[in-house]
Formats: sequence, structure tokens, C-alpha cells
Amino acid sequence: MMATLFDPVSLRRTLHQYPELSNHEAQSARTLAAQLRAFGFTPHTEIGGHGIVVEIAGKAAGPTTLLRADFDALPIHERTQCAHASNHEGVMHACGHDGHATALLMVAHTLAQQPPQQGKVLLVFQPAEETGEGAARMCADPCLATQEIDHVYAFHNLPGFAQHHIVVRSGTFACASTGVAIHLRGKTSHAAYPERGISPASAMTEVMTALMQLPEQHHPAFSLVTLVHAQLGEPAFGVSPGDATVMATLRSDDNATFHAMKASLTTSINAIAQHAGLEVSIAWHEPFIAAYNHPDHYAHVVDAAQTLGLSVQTLTEPMRWSEDVAEFLARWPGALFGIGSGEHHPQLHNPDYDFPDAILSTAHDLFCALVDRHHGMAAPSAPQ
Ligand SMILES: [Zn+2]
Repeated sequence: MMATLFDPVSLRRTLHQYPELSNHEAQSARTLAAQLRAFGFTPHTEIGGHGIVVEIAGKAAGPTTLLRADFDALPIHERTQCAHASNHEGVMHACGHDGHATALLMVAHTLAQQPPQQGKVLLVFQPAEETGEGAARMCADPCLATQEIDHVYAFHNLPGFAQHHIVVRSGTFACASTGVAIHLRGKTSHAAYPERGISPASAMTEVMTALMQLPEQHHPAFSLVTLVHAQLGEPAFGVSPGDATVMATLRSDDNATFHAMKASLTTSINAIAQHAGLEVSIAWHEPFIAAYNHPDHYAHVVDAAQTLGLSVQTLTEPMRWSEDVAEFLARWPGALFGIGSGEHHPQLHNPDYDFPDAILSTAHDLFCALVDRHHGMAAPSAPQ
């Protein structure tokens, strides 16, 4: 048999060069599946969109571990100087999902030669993370829905933290979040006779106040509301407005608190609109639940990292952003951890961001140490 040629850095850069938006990752999925086939696996494709699942079973019975990486990109215009900059105008791997997927391919490459001895490892390549859709869709697919999974692990690279440092937390690692768009509809009138219409102006300010006061009502959990957009009527001096829109993003580190925030906001907005004689609609966008790390899996990550000689940083507060790996972690116990990308590395979603290839091996080594811990890995086979 021919030795498998696999150069992770060049594959990562190829993914980077041809980024694809959430739900459009067909080419990236083909690249990943082709590489998995070259390793000798038979990947399940088109799972929950362009998702891929590889099952690697050991000879003996044992637990099941799911390792997950995402691979979608963002609608950002790349402004790096690198040779592998995006060839897709206005689309960019600005969150490092090209690196996450490549690290998991490296794990596949190792497991092809050193399979788990007991139980089963599932490698999950997930599309549509940025829109919060992919994980739930993959979990709902029979390929995963019928599995009994004991351990789930995933990582995200973290600019602002020292390179190779493992960043983790027991309990919530990343917050729940949702966008909310509130539309108030009254009736326009001549600006000289505002009383002949129904202006949503006062109600709009009450809605904004209700949004800003929401976190105070939900102590002690961490909660945050960010007003992101507001519009009243049209820029016309002769017209008293008939419509208003307010948009905000809600976050919390606790799913129960998060649901309570949404429910109380809905009640307040309906009461405000009713009192003002306005029609109202409330639309929720890009919902993510909180990513919860099981204490046992937090301990496994810390132990495995320390065994590898990696520095571990335990967060006192969760990350404020969201990660839809939370959907896997809500169904099966596990942990999401961070790997530092470098203290001065451009931040996620910056136009000059590029995944640091130096941490590919860190991610691979930690994933493999976790597999070894739960399954035992066969000794490496002789070079082919
Ligand atoms: Zn990301």
C-alpha cells in the first residue's frame, strides 16, 4: 500500500483559500471527505447539511467518544497579506474553522494507524456553526440521534490567550444568545397633525428601556442585552411615523435564566404595544443555547493537557460569545475548551485574522490524549 501523503498545513491553507458560508460548504465537505477516504475511512456525508461523520470502532466493547470540528466561514472581506488569502470575494475563514477541521483530520490520520482499542470514536465535521443551525441538525440525523455517546469534546482557537495554552471551565463555557427584532406598527399622519395617526415613538423608547433593564431583573446569573439597531419612521419632516424597529442581542450563562429573560421580554413588549394601540411582532434570530461543560470532562481535559505538559488556564467567567457545540453538550456530557492562538493574534472575525498553524499539533495531541484515556490507542503500525 502507498504511504498516505498528508500535509495538514497545506490542506488548512487550501480550506482557507476557498471559504464557504454556512449551509454552502459543499466544496469544503468534498475536500474533507476525499482526505478521509484517502486515510481508508468510509465517511457518512450530507449529515444535517454538508456534515460528515466517521465512525472508528475498536475490537473490544467500550464507551463512545464524539470529537467535533466546524468548517464554515463568514461574510467578511479578507484583509490579510498571506498567499493563501480567500479566493471567494467577501467570504473569509475569520474564525479559524479551517484550522478546527484540519486538526480533526490530523486525528483521523493518527486513528487510521492507531485505532481505538475499546469502544468507538466518532469524528464529526459540522457545517453551519456561525448561524447556529448545523449542530442541532446533525444531532437530529439518525446517524447521530441513535447513538449513545459518553464523551463529547471540541475546541475553539482563542486569540488573546498565549499560544498553546488550554483554556477551559467547569460548567458554562460559552453563553446562550439570541437576536431579537421587534417591529411596532401604528399609522402615519401629517406631521402637523400627529394625533390623527398612531406614532410608535413613545412605545419604542419604552421597548428600549425594557430591553436595557432586563439583565437587572435576572440576577445572579450573568445576563447582557446589547441594543444593536433602532429605526423610527422615515427621514421626512412632514410625516409623523407609523413604524418602528428595535433590534437587540440577549445573552446569559444559564439556559433557564435565558428562557426567563425571553419570556419576560415578550410579556413586557406585548403590554407596551397594547397600551399604545400598536401592532407588534417579535422575531428571534440565530438562537444558541449555553455550552455546558460536565465537571468530569473538564477534569479529563485538564489532566490530559497537563500530561502533555500544556499550560491550563481555568476561566472564572464563561466566554460571552456562543458556540453551537452546545447542542451536542446538551444531549451528551462533554467539554468545549479553548486553545490560545497567541496574546497578540488578530481577534476572531477581524479581517486580518488567520488560523495559527502552530496550534494544529496542540489540538491533535490533546484530542488523541483524550481518545487514549477513554479507549486506549493501538501502538503505531510499522511504516507502510
Ligand atoms: Zn468559530
